[in-house]
Amino acid sequence: MTKPYYGKLDEEKVFKDPVHRYIHVRDELIWELIGTKEFQRLRRVRQLGTTFLTFHGAEHTRFNHSLGVYEITRRILEVFKGRPHWNEEERLLALSAALLHDLGHGPFSHSFEKVFHTDHEEWTREIILGDTEINRVLARVEPSFPKNVADVIEKTYSNKLVTSIISSQIDADRMDYLQRDAYYTGVSYGHFDMERILRVMRPMEDQVVIKQSGMHAVEDYIMSRYQMYWQVYFHPVTRSAEVILSQIFKRAKELYEQGYTFKQKPEHFYSFFSGNVSLADYLRLDESITMYYFQIWQEEEDRILRDLCVRFLNRRLFKYVEFNPNLQMNDWPRLRQLFLQADLNPDYYLVVDSSSDLPYDFYRPGEEEERLPIHLVMPNGKLRELSRESEVVEAISGKKRTDHKLYFPLDCLEDEREHKETKREIRKLLMK
Ligand code: CA
Repeated sequence: MTKPYYGKLDEEKVFKDPVHRYIHVRDELIWELIGTKEFQRLRRVRQLGTTFLTFHGAEHTRFNHSLGVYEITRRILEVFKGRPHWNEEERLLALSAALLHDLGHGPFSHSFEKVFHTDHEEWTREIILGDTEINRVLARVEPSFPKNVADVIEKTYSNKLVTSIISSQIDADRMDYLQRDAYYTGVSYGHFDMERILRVMRPMEDQVVIKQSGMHAVEDYIMSRYQMYWQVYFHPVTRSAEVILSQIFKRAKELYEQGYTFKQKPEHFYSFFSGNVSLADYLRLDESITMYYFQIWQEEEDRILRDLCVRFLNRRLFKYVEFNPNLQMNDWPRLRQLFLQADLNPDYYLVVDSSSDLPYDFYRPGEEEERLPIHLVMPNGKLRELSRESEVVEAISGKKRTDHKLYFPLDCLEDEREHKETKREIRKLLMK
């Protein structure tokens, strides 16, 4: 056997981390991956997009989170080491996939992907397999290694046990973001006893299972997830900021398509506007560049783009009312017409947003079905699905709550210097 290209570092590297205290790196491979420019780019992409406009502490990035997922995976593998079903040769593969699983996230992913039809999962694969520093570092392990890493992240890798460490109902990804997002937002939800969960995780054939004695710690984790969804991730103010962000991207794209002359050319966005994006274009875009354009667009000729950017940067968000699509659709044509009369373009200033269509990697329609269920291993060695054992989990599992909200600029509607009667009628319709 030839000697592997990467070995252990002479001295362990540690990153101070507010959530896990320390992140330990002993493998040369991991250290080199962290140093690549594609990984460093994640420092310029926030983990929670626009949530910082609701919870001002939520400035943490994909970089922090990725290191955290790596660290949790590393600890899980310490528990697995030497146990049946676990093949220690998969260790570096699992660690690399954990570290790189969010590599393809762009600026404000959720709104961005909706408007420009990009997909961070596809970009993750492109970055790992394309002409990048990441690819060169991975390929030195062996030529097939980059593809294996991409397959684990895409959940198509042959050994499902490796996949399930990083994406299942209870995985390193979720365990990190729940705790990290709770820490940085400052909310009191999101805490659970991870140390306990790590001690009761076991590899079994093609999945990670939990010893039955750890059931209550897992219940706590499920509850904290449930709380975080509604208190943080689906927060209506964050959704309002996302709505404005989507409208900015939409407006800029529309202006470009109309041949509008921007005061300063938005070169970084050209390929996104035209839908022909190269890997280099994609990697060039991050949240600092995006915010830069929002700054300069505050002075654009176009009234809508200008207003939306002023709103986003100064947190002059849209207000919302609960919206029942079945009941209120009758009022819809009338509302749109009144908005036009009041000189507000309803395509940009009257927006329905549904919670089932919400941000980032904590929720995507159909995701619950895709992710593997949690299995408990009973004292007799048999497996039981968690919700069959736990009444707490049974009570909240499979219940998807969708709500619809209608977003609009209340400040404009309350400004009665012009279109007074029309605006009064709009307010009456919205508030009824
Ligand atoms: Ca993630």
